[in-house]
Amino acid sequence: MNTSLLEYISTIIPKENLFVEEPMNQRTTFRTGGNAEILIEVETEEQLKQLIIFLNKIEEEYHIIGNGSNLLIGDRGIRGAILQIGSRMSKLEVYGTTIVAGAGVLLSQLAAFAAKNKLSGLEFASGIPGTLGGAVVMNAGAYGGEMCQVVTKVKVMTYEGEILELDHETMEFQYRNSVIRNKKFVVLEVEMSLELGDQKEILAKMSELSSARKEKQPLEFPSAGSTFKRPEGHFSGKLIMEAGLKGLQIGGAQVSEKHCGFVINRDHATSADILEVIRTVQDRVFENAGVKLEMEVICLGDF
Ligand SMILES: Cc1cc2nc3c(=O)[nH]c(=O)nc-3n(C[C@H](O)[C@H](O)[C@H](O)COP(=O)(O)OP(=O)(O)OC[C@H]3O[C@@H](n4cnc5c(N)ncnc54)[C@H](O)[C@@H]3O)c2cc1C
Repeated sequence: MNTSLLEYISTIIPKENLFVEEPMNQRTTFRTGGNAEILIEVETEEQLKQLIIFLNKIEEEYHIIGNGSNLLIGDRGIRGAILQIGSRMSKLEVYGTTIVAGAGVLLSQLAAFAAKNKLSGLEFASGIPGTLGGAVVMNAGAYGGEMCQVVTKVKVMTYEGEILELDHETMEFQYRNSVIRNKKFVVLEVEMSLELGDQKEILAKMSELSSARKEKQPLEFPSAGSTFKRPEGHFSGKLIMEAGLKGLQIGGAQVSEKHCGFVINRDHATSADILEVIRTVQDRVFENAGVKLEMEVICLGDF
């Protein structure tokens, strides 16, 4: 990115929110990946609008990220700008049984806020390490819960910088997908409808699910959670285990010995190591069971 563009961006964005040649291994839960040419921590809708309009006008590539917990970034980095919707856009408000929250709020904070207000429906989300924006885009889910069960309205910014309000139907929620990814919208704010509950029971459920995660998932190693989508009628972890791939290691990346559905950064892995494990798993599972495993993790940048 040339210096005059950078100078222009720094007239829109405060210096402390602007990061040049930012190592993406510091911004993703896989802890791998090269540098982003420029990373901007977006603070307001107005900043975002000006940035999007400007970047579109000069035909500069940009990507939106949340907490980087479902991303595999190439070792050779990412060209263009990364716009991060994170803690600087994390308002939390409650109106009766409705919560309105900024896209940058972490799901753990959101679930704790719901529990504090005796609201039930977000217990499942408390252990998912993403932002609300990322969770809505991915229709994140766990233990029988999914974002689509609670989301009623989503405020987004379009590619042209316009604000739209999408209702539940317009969101076209599907398994680990929604309309947002195809349309290139940016999630700004989300309205969720919850139910009044017993605070003790809500907290007990969250704690039970947290223990289940600790017991079953390799949380002691960097990862992006389940690497593959659940194939219809199967479990990816089981298919991977049956293909004899438990513990398969290439470079520093490994099929977790604790949960085969997770590819982990076992020991200073590169993104290329992780991708090679993923491709090997896809090939071998297909040979063994005839099932095509589709990645849930999203690849960005140059590998
Ligand atoms: C240990 C671990 C456990 C996990 N467990 C689960 C689980 O149980 N269930 C589950 O579903 N997932 C799980 N995940 C995956 C991940 O946490 C979720 O997919 C999460 O919703 C991603 O949110 P994020 O903010 O990190 O998004 P990112 O990874 O930053 O981005 C993911 C996608 O969302 C887009 N995006 C992010 N924010 C916005 C925004 N504001 N507007 C528009 N687009 C946006 C990005 O462009 C990208 O396409 C787990 C991950 C880890 C590391």
